[in-house]
Amino acid sequence: MEFPTTQLSIYAEDMIRESLAQSRSMNIDSVDQHEFEVHHRKEQFVVNILNRTCSCRQWDLDLISCSHTCIALSTRNLNLHLYTDKFYYVSNLINLYKKGTRPIGTVNQIRNIHQGGNDGILPP
Ligand SMILES: [Zn+2]
Repeated sequence: MEFPTTQLSIYAEDMIRESLAQSRSMNIDSVDQHEFEVHHRKEQFVVNILNRTCSCRQWDLDLISCSHTCIALSTRNLNLHLYTDKFYYVSNLINLYKKGTRPIGTVNQIRNIHQGGNDGILPP
């Protein structure tokens, strides 16, 4: 089955949808071409769409748009999917699992393997 290359996983779509909904109650000021100040209640966040950063750190760490990023990208009419890491693209997830996954066994099977040993972990 072929998916458009920028189609996001359901998980990512849900996260972005939630962020977009949250962003509707925010106000935004443009600092320059790439940087924005986003105001939400009494908090203030700085989004830089060129560096793909937000001071809340979600965009930097999870590589998926936070609500502050959503409002900034929407202000510039930029496609949210293109600013989400390729990791979340369906096409990449399919490639990741193409080789198949091996079952890891039951808890008891795992316990039997490690019985009697200290699992190689030594006390400090
Ligand atoms: Zn943010």
